[in-house]
Amino acid sequence: MFNNLSDKLDKALHVLKGHGSITEVNVAETLKEVRRALLDADVNFKIAKDFTVRVKDKAIGQNVLTTLQPGQLMVKIVKDELTELMGGDAAGINLSGAPSVILMSGLQGSGKTTFSGKLANYLKTKKSKKPLLVACDVYRPAAIDQLHIVGGQIGVEVFSDRGNTDPVAISKAGIAHAKANGYNVVIIDTAGRLAVDEVMMTEISNIHKAIQPQETLFVVDSMTGQDAVNTAKAFNDVLNFDGVILTKLDGDTRGGAAISIKSVVNKPIKFIGTGEKMEAIDVFYPARMADRILGMGDVVSLVERAQEQFDEEEARKLQKKIAKNQFGFDDFLKQIQQIKKMGNMKDLMGMIPGAGKMLKDVDIDDDAFKGIEAIIHSMTPKERTNPSIINASRKQRIGNGSGTSVQQVNQLLKQFDQMSKMMKMMQGGGGKKMMQMMKG
Ligand code: GDP
Repeated sequence: MFNNLSDKLDKALHVLKGHGSITEVNVAETLKEVRRALLDADVNFKIAKDFTVRVKDKAIGQNVLTTLQPGQLMVKIVKDELTELMGGDAAGINLSGAPSVILMSGLQGSGKTTFSGKLANYLKTKKSKKPLLVACDVYRPAAIDQLHIVGGQIGVEVFSDRGNTDPVAISKAGIAHAKANGYNVVIIDTAGRLAVDEVMMTEISNIHKAIQPQETLFVVDSMTGQDAVNTAKAFNDVLNFDGVILTKLDGDTRGGAAISIKSVVNKPIKFIGTGEKMEAIDVFYPARMADRILGMGDVVSLVERAQEQFDEEEARKLQKKIAKNQFGFDDFLKQIQQIKKMGNMKDLMGMIPGAGKMLKDVDIDDDAFKGIEAIIHSMTPKERTNPSIINASRKQRIGNGSGTSVQQVNQLLKQFDQMSKMMKMMQGGGGKKMMQMMKG
């Protein structure tokens, strides 16, 4: 996410970071570089210019040049301004209606349908809501099918009326269906077009007027940069929407839309989409995003994700197993699956301070564990609980079965063995022992 921008800002600020004494000349030079980085990220010219002017004013106001660590203070000022530019505080969504009606708007291909599913899933699993999805695209039957598939994946009902060509009538019927059947949130997925046009705007505006939703969300593909900002403006002029959803941030290396959209439409970014899977949704926190852009990682989100997957009961069981030296490959597999549920690997790595930069050219994909999983799946239950029985011929069989090599099997066995030893040491008051081991 935003690798290019992070890189350039890092280079721009690098000059200041290491220096004890900073001159007006290198502050000015840095600000010029920061502005160039923002422009390269596809941030609007005026926004980039105003940004650097504000940073400069703040730097002068805080007497940056005379402070002890001017470089760090500059980075902090840039971070604070970046946070402010992206919206300041995180914005929630209004769920006060009975049912709460959420209207989705945006161009075709922006990720509206996918996000409708993600939001329904989020509200169901994290907020204990009972959502209903309503399919209002009367032009593309495939769009209705797609919403039904998404609903099936997450176990959320989808309301549709295939013969009906009136989206206002369908959305009203959907809301009535929700009321009659105890749904407390209604998410209405509407038809989009490839570009802003009058017919689409009139249609979405008619739906908006007729149903008066609690929340109108505008979905936009972040990879489209300035276009995303212009489209946001067009939709906001007609709908006066409540919030922006930025999708496909996983593929966005530049970040221009994320940075500019708030100041153009003056509406908060509420959620982001970071992948095609239903779990790839995050609340948008401007300060955390600023940290990530500046290569400071996002440990808070990382810990939150880990906590979401943390199951106390399971953890206790695992601890017992480790204590009894019974930790086997099945447990290992479970751990891998939990990590995978936390999200896309590269995204997770990017949350570790400094790691994003180090790993920017490393190709980590979601299949990072594929080989390991295949090897474990090729083991018999006995081998999984008692890896010591895995002899040469078994290794050969496992290698063949998993499409890997004996060498890879050996490598995994070795890693597993080391891990088991380490776990045991940490268990048995071995903290000290481990420290000793590491020292010498
Ligand atoms: P709609 O026409 O606005 O309803 O858009 P769709 O929901 O059909 O999404 C268009 C394409 O973008 C699909 O292939 C989705 O899988 C993909 N997509 C949606 N959101 C994301 C995201 O956050 N990240 C990535 N990588 N792909 C996404």
